[in-house]
Amino acid sequence: MRDFSKITPYKPGKPIEEVKRALKLKEVYKLASNEVPFPPAYINKAIARELKNINRYPEGGSFYLRELVAKKHGVKPEQIVFGNGSDEVIALAITAACAPGDEIVISDPTFLVYEIQALVRGARVTKVPFKNYKYDLEAMAKVISDKTKIVVIANPDNPTGTYCKAQEIEAFLSRIPKSVLVFLDEAYFEFAPKDFPDNLKSLNQRGNIIFSRTFSKIYALAGARLGYGISTVEIAETLNKIREPFNINRFAQTCGIAALKDKSFVKKALSHNNKEMAYLYKELDKLGVDYVKSATNFIMINLKRDTTALNDFLLKNGVIIRELKGWGVPSHFRVTAGLHKENVKFINCLKQYCEQGGCK
Ligand SMILES: *Cc1c(COP(=O)(O)O)cnc(C)c1O
Repeated sequence: MRDFSKITPYKPGKPIEEVKRALKLKEVYKLASNEVPFPPAYINKAIARELKNINRYPEGGSFYLRELVAKKHGVKPEQIVFGNGSDEVIALAITAACAPGDEIVISDPTFLVYEIQALVRGARVTKVPFKNYKYDLEAMAKVISDKTKIVVIANPDNPTGTYCKAQEIEAFLSRIPKSVLVFLDEAYFEFAPKDFPDNLKSLNQRGNIIFSRTFSKIYALAGARLGYGISTVEIAETLNKIREPFNINRFAQTCGIAALKDKSFVKKALSHNNKEMAYLYKELDKLGVDYVKSATNFIMINLKRDTTALNDFLLKNGVIIRELKGWGVPSHFRVTAGLHKENVKFINCLKQYCEQGGCK
């Protein structure tokens, strides 16, 4: 076997069930994984319709879903690759781009999946520290070398929640050799302000770009595992060639189709998020706690000290947040905007903790 001892396994937000069991709690609120806190109502019918076909393999090409996504973006169906979550699209792109010894350039900290997938493939990972909690695109452009095969940009970023504007991305792209694949991970696209780069224009001009979207965030389908990448026909064909033939199961396909046909859920989820993010900002300001203004459904908070004690205190009170030690920012943590009562509970616990001197 190859030696993977240098890879730190991805540690997801603690599952609600696990915390209930371990701490003997009846009610637990999970604000740790940037999920929308309620499911779309139309999903029951969509899944029920598909149940009778469970004995049959799904369509490997996700035909109907592909047609809908192509129409939504105004691209050819052949430009799309679906993944078991956009995580898989990231993995496929890194596999296609990097042979062992090749280099990937990413920000630090950023979404952990990029580094893990690169290390699995024996690639060298060059990390460029963020500047004022934002991607330092200047510095990232400067470290590109002959060995660099792919640059990944989470826009907006996780865990910071900040984003790069259209102009910044376009300026960055103009400095990157066309031989380098630029991966734009836009998992939180729908939450962000609208000055986003025109990826299709860049794709037509530059070619070597892929951008990904997911059904896990604004569409509230994290449990279905569905995401996709859009690129040139050539790149999409390569990724489709190396993916598993049935990577998108029947239920994920059905859920995705129902999500794209629905007209109201995204609006509902967005307006909920706007309201709750405003609530969280207001209460954090009152507590005098430092945080990074976010373009997403989560907030990175700077406690200015190790977060272990706070994390334990919140868990005991049935609130799961995300510590960021694995990201290399151990004095910060991340909280997702949940249901209003969940956010109130989180704020009340944080207030109590601060009153006991935990935040000074
Ligand atoms: C949540 C998230 C994703 C989406 O992952 P899925 O595999 O589609 O659920 C991708 N990138 C970032 C930065 C994320 O935070």
